[in-house]
Amino acid sequence: MRLLIMGPPGAGKGTQASLIGEHYGIPAISTGDMFRAMKTAKTPLAEQVRAIMDSGGYVSDDITNAIVAERLAQPDCANGFLLDGYPRTLAQVETLDSMLADSGTSIDAVISLVADVEEVVQRLLKRANIGGRTDDNEDTIRIRMQVYAEQTAPLLEVYRSRGVLIEVNGLGLIHEVSERLFAALDEVAVGARPA
Ligand code: ADP
Repeated sequence: MRLLIMGPPGAGKGTQASLIGEHYGIPAISTGDMFRAMKTAKTPLAEQVRAIMDSGGYVSDDITNAIVAERLAQPDCANGFLLDGYPRTLAQVETLDSMLADSGTSIDAVISLVADVEEVVQRLLKRANIGGRTDDNEDTIRIRMQVYAEQTAPLLEVYRSRGVLIEVNGLGLIHEVSERLFAALDEVAVGARPA
């Protein structure tokens, strides 16, 4: 299965993405994790990525598209994958479409993890208190929410109009949410084309 998972910062995408990846035996690929891994390098590109992430903004489409293209070309993605945190802009949707078209494939389903904004802000603040990420402070969290609402939330309509959007309630215990997701994805798996 070729899947995307979308939702506001703090909706639990990363946690659920790993569980889905394990359950269906596909790599869960997080652009946020890839960028966080890059941040520690002492190169001009790493400095640039660090500054953008710490401000709550998005890394440029060119850089993001390039790292995703490289990752999807790895052999472990041949039979499916789950992208977490990509695409986040319309330009990224277009690039992903053409990358997949080149390999004669397409996205089978897009999971939208639905969560209330105030609830997710509270979750992120809690993560900040236990020594979480440098972008988990109240000002940056608000900026990330706004950037998400402006640039990424509209993508849900694009995928809804393609008939591949699956909306799942992201509130509740981790295993409750993953059970909802597995139930929805089991149906997709039946219809998904083999590689
Ligand atoms: P969250 O969605 O919880 O804020 P992520 O780990 O998905 O966290 O992303 C963290 C940061 O990494 C984003 O705020 C952004 O700066 C950068 N990033 C991740 N994915 C993308 C993307 N597809 N395009 C641009 N920037 C991205």
